[in-house]
Amino acid sequence: MKTYTNYLGSKFDIEPITKTVNRYTRAGNEGRNIFCPKCDKRSRVFHFSWSALNCQHCDTMIDKNQWRTV
Ligand SMILES: [Zn+2]
Repeated sequence: MKTYTNYLGSKFDIEPITKTVNRYTRAGNEGRNIFCPKCDKRSRVFHFSWSALNCQHCDTMIDKNQWRTV
């Protein structure tokens, strides 16, 4: 079975999320989960009117188009 390794070296047997936030990504009324490309932790946002966001988990400033979403 193919495995995938993330930034932190953790192994997964499912394909990681590779879709990233772009200028067409919308949060909707419920907000939207985005995943830090560095620590793979989830954050929830309610709008995308920002160009970069600090990850609360690894304290890294991540550009909008680097965040992943499903
Ligand atoms: Zn992070």
